[in-house]
Parts: sequence; C-alpha cells; structure tokens
Amino acid sequence: MKRIYLDNNATTQILPEVLEEMLPFLGENFGNPSSIHDFGQKARVAVDRARIRLAESIGARPDEIIFTSSGTEADNLAVTGYITELIYSCGKEKPHLISSPIEHKAVYETCKILADRNLIELTLVPVDLSGAINPDDIKNAIRKNTKLISVMWANNETGIIQPINEIAALLSGTSIAFHTDAVQAFGKTAINVRKAGIDMLSVSGHKIHAAKGIGALYLRRGLKISPLIFGGSHEKSLRAGTENVPGIVSLGKAASVLTEKLEATVKHEENLRKKLIKGIRENISEISFNGSLENSIPNTLNVSFKGLEAEALLARLDMAGIAVSTGSACSSGANEPSRVLKAMGVHPDYAYSALRFSMSHSNTEEEIAETIRVLSKIVSEMRKS
Ligand code: PLP
Repeated sequence: MKRIYLDNNATTQILPEVLEEMLPFLGENFGNPSSIHDFGQKARVAVDRARIRLAESIGARPDEIIFTSSGTEADNLAVTGYITELIYSCGKEKPHLISSPIEHKAVYETCKILADRNLIELTLVPVDLSGAINPDDIKNAIRKNTKLISVMWANNETGIIQPINEIAALLSGTSIAFHTDAVQAFGKTAINVRKAGIDMLSVSGHKIHAAKGIGALYLRRGLKISPLIFGGSHEKSLRAGTENVPGIVSLGKAASVLTEKLEATVKHEENLRKKLIKGIRENISEISFNGSLENSIPNTLNVSFKGLEAEALLARLDMAGIAVSTGSACSSGANEPSRVLKAMGVHPDYAYSALRFSMSHSNTEEEIAETIRVLSKIVSEMRKS
C-alpha cells in the first residue's frame, strides 16, 4: 500500500539536499566547534555558515541567532528568559504578559506556570471563530506594567495567521517586547523580523524538512534575556552545551532551500488545498472548515465532520494508508476537544470531529484525489453504522 503523508505540521521528512549536507557531520566531520584544531574548526565553520543562512532567511543578523534543542526550548528561552531577566534586573513590580489561548503548549504552559508561580500577571486575549486574535484586544489589555507579548505567527492546528504586523505596530515606541512563535509559519510564509518589528522569534528544524532536536531563537540585538541552561559560553552564554552540529547544519540548509522555493511551494500547496476543499465540499455533507481560509498558511486545512469521532476517523484513514492528525488530546480515557477550537468557540458537535490535513511540497494532486475518495467512503460508512 502506498502511504500518503498529510501530517506535515507534526513533522516533515528531511530534504535529500539537507541530509546530504548534514551527513558528514554525523561521520568524518565529528569535531567539537569549541576545539581549536582542524576537526573543531571544520565544525565551527559549518555552524557559522548555518547561522548566516538562518539569519538571512528571516532578515536578521547572524549574531541575533541562538541555536536551541527545539522550538519548545526557543519558546521557553524567549518567555522565561525575558521574564527572569526582568525580575532580576528591575525587581519589584510584577511583570504583565499578554498572550493567547491558542498558543502551542511550549508558550501556553510556560505562561501558565509563570503565572501559577506568581511571577507574572497573565492576560490571554480572546480568539473568534475566524481563529485569529484582534489587535484591539491586545491594545486594550496593555497595562502600565505590561512587559511582554507572545503571540504565535501561525497556529499549528488551524494554520490561521495572527495579526503580527498590527501587534508590532501597536508596540512600536513602547518598551514592551514582542515574541512570536513562528514554528509553523517559517517556510510557509515570508518572514522578515526587522520589517515586522519583532524582538524574539522561535523556529524549529523538524517542521521545515531539517532534523529533529534543533531549533533557534532570534533575539534582537540589545534585548537582554537570562539563560535557562548554564554552563559553557556557547551561544553567547545564552544556551550552554556543545552544539548539535549536524542539526544546526540541517536547519541552516533547510532555511536556505525553503526560502528560495517559498513562492513555488506556496503556489503548489494552495492548489492542493483548493482541490482538497472542493473535493470535501462536493462529496461529504455536514462538514465545517475551522478558521478563515483566506487568512492561513497554505498547507493546512482543519475540517470537522459532524457526528463523527475524530480519533476513530483518523484510525480508519490510517488503516487505509492516509496519515492526518486530530487536534484533540486524549487524557484519562476521555477525549477532550482541542483547546484551540474550544477557544475559537467551535460548537462541540464539530470540535470533537476535527481533523487536520497538513501538506508539503512533496504531496501531489493524485494523493489529494485519493484522499478525497477514501475519506468520502469512510465518512459515509461511519455515518451509516
Ligand atoms: N510551536 C508550534 C506552533 C509548534 O507547532 C510546535 C510543534 O508542534 C512547537 C512550537 C514545538 O516545536 P518542537 O517540536 O521543535 O519542540
């Protein structure tokens, strides 16, 4: 059975050209970038090159890139690192942080924990059915002690793009820092941190066809954060630990390739998504697309099939060779609808039955046609039983 992979927001396959560049650093080029001999210097040159490539792909300077172990670590470093630095440096007043209820857990749980520990005041601004927050809600939430805003660029479950430029414009001329989790936006939409006015931005390797276990934080020159991991002076003493050289090389290469091919990839994915939407609309009743399709990264489609249980549908699709994902979390035996869809106000009939289809450059029209055929058949069978 030929399998169809439509779960690229969960993880992606490493590109062949990325693999080719990283492999020597898992083999003969095994040096430690901190060593001054030739083995070490080969690794150092590769890390520096990757830093330049990643910086170029987001409009940053190389010295503004901090490599981390993941997107999760980059998010933690931005939020906790910035808040910790504030608490250490200017003390008394509790900082206020504004975020949203649709953030990935890497930001959401970090904010919650900081608030639970009484280290910050936290405001989560609302989200509407379109899946986006309203910049006016951010504006209205700002207080005298607001120090940090963390809003994701694109949501991992719905693909909805958040009003990043508008939020940055609101903050221009203030001392409030702006962090965005761009893990799902990077490689799917153009990013320029300087033009957008962003202070911190997180990315992850395995979402952009690089290796797992590598991420990075863009930290605007001059902005101070505290490290979360202490030790050696790696990454300007902001992230101790011998560098993951193969991972870093893969992230730098993937960033270059994806940036170069961005326009073509967006076109391709838009075409596939249009076909998927049309096929679902024409063949399946009582469906609902979650979030505004006009305002989302092109590879993602979140759709509900009224009356069905998403997990059961996913399992049937998997048996038929099609890999998708649900937004819902299964905890203590009870299926919970996705926190993101709940926050958007999606009706429970639809929230429990939502599937996420997330494509990549390598998916084909034939795969989408086959997905529509199989999905229609399974939905019809499940609704009859
Ligand atoms: N942020 C978003 C929006 C994500 O989708 C993910 C992963 O799913 C992460 C952060 C975490 O990235 P990583 O898997 O590299 O820790």
